[in-house]
Amino acid sequence: MSIQRRSTVAVTIGTVRVGGGAPIVVQSMTNTDTADVAATAQQVQALARAGSELVRVTVNTAEAAAAVAPLRERLEQAGVTVPLIGDFHFNGHKLLAEHPACAQALAKYRINPGNVGRGSKRDPQFAQMIETACRYGKPVRIGVNWGSLDAELLTRLMDENSQRAAPRGAQEVMREAVVQSALSSAARAEELGLAHERIVLSAKVSGVQDLIAIYRDLASRCDYPLHLGLTEAGMGSKGIVASTAGMAVLLQEGIGDTIRVSLTPEPAGDRTQEVQVAQEILQTMGLRSFAPLVVACPGCGRTTSTVFQQLAQRIQAHIRERMPQWRQDYAGVEDMRVAVMGCVVNGPGESRHANIGISLPGTGERPVAPVYEDGEKTVTLKGERIAEEFQQLVEQYVARRYARRADR
Ligand code: SF4
Repeated sequence: MSIQRRSTVAVTIGTVRVGGGAPIVVQSMTNTDTADVAATAQQVQALARAGSELVRVTVNTAEAAAAVAPLRERLEQAGVTVPLIGDFHFNGHKLLAEHPACAQALAKYRINPGNVGRGSKRDPQFAQMIETACRYGKPVRIGVNWGSLDAELLTRLMDENSQRAAPRGAQEVMREAVVQSALSSAARAEELGLAHERIVLSAKVSGVQDLIAIYRDLASRCDYPLHLGLTEAGMGSKGIVASTAGMAVLLQEGIGDTIRVSLTPEPAGDRTQEVQVAQEILQTMGLRSFAPLVVACPGCGRTTSTVFQQLAQRIQAHIRERMPQWRQDYAGVEDMRVAVMGCVVNGPGESRHANIGISLPGTGERPVAPVYEDGEKTVTLKGERIAEEFQQLVEQYVARRYARRADR
C-alpha cells in the first residue's frame, strides 16, 4: 500500500519548516534539568552540532520556566540558533502565564492533551495554553502519548464499544482513542483561534504495530504535519531496531514530517546518539543526506585480521569529526560513499561503485590494497601505513571533488 501523504501544510517553527514539502526534520530532546542553564545549553549545543534541527526541553517547574529565556540567550551568544520547544505537562498553563519571557523564547509548545488537567480543569487549562500560543504567534504540537492517554475519552470509547453488536478488541479501541484524542484536541485548538498551519500532531506509543496502525489512521484523517517517533523505545540495539522498524514502514508510505528516535541512553551515555540514528534512518532510506556513508563488508572466513574493521571504524570516526567543517566548506559532501572492503571477492566491485573505496587483502591474497576513485583504480597502497594513507586520500578526494561553497 502507498499513501504518499507527506503533509502539504507547512508549519514554521522558528527558522525551521516542517511539512509543506520541506525535508523531514530531525529533532531530539535534552535530559538535563532545564533549570540548570549551563548544563542544558551544553547539551542543546551538542545535539545541534550533531544535527538536531529542533531541540525540546522539559518545562516542568517555575525554575525551569525561568531558565528558558536565559538559556536561549546563552545559546545565541554561542551562535546556536536551533529552535527550542517547550515540553509542558500538568502545569503548562500556569508556567506560560507566569513566565512571559519563556513563552516568548520558545519556538513551539508541546502540549499533551492527556496531561493538561483532570475533570473540569482540563478544558480551561488547555484553552489557556492555546490562547498563549495564539498571543505569542507560536505553533503547537499536540502530542498524545499512549502512557498518558485521556482517561475520560478512553472510558467513553470503551463504553460505546461495549454497546456495539460486534464490539472491537480493546487494543483497537485504545488505538482509536489515541487518534481521536489528537484530532479532537487539534479541532478544539482551531476553535480557540490557533491557525491550522500552526499545528503539528504526534501520537506516540511503544509498540511497533500500534505505531504503524495509529499513524496510518491519523494520516488518512487529517493533513497536519506529523511528528513521528516510538516512545519508550528502549536502550541500545533494541531501541534502535524498534524505532527503525516502525518508522521506516511509515516513512516509506509518505507518513512523517519530523522524527525523533527516543533512545534510553546508557548511564553517562552520549545523548547525541539519538540524532545520529535518526539521520541514519533517513539517509539509508534515501530520504535525506547528512554525512558520507561508509560501506563496509561484514568480513568472513576469507579475512584473518581485523584490519578492515579497524579501518572502517577509523574512517567513520574521521568523517564524523570532520563533517561540521566539511559541511561548511564543501557542497554535496554528505552524498559521498566510501567503501572499505575485506577482500577481492566483492572489494573491487563495491569500491568501484563508491566515490572512493579500498579493497584490503584477504587471506592468501597479495598484501596490497587497491584504491578506486569514481570507478577507476588510482593507486595501490601497501605496508604499515595503509590506514593513514587512505584517510589522507579521502581528505584529498573531498577537497578535489566537492567545490568550496565560497567559490560557487
Ligand atoms: S568482501 Fe571478502 S572479506 Fe568481505 S565479506 Fe565478502 S568475501 Fe568476506
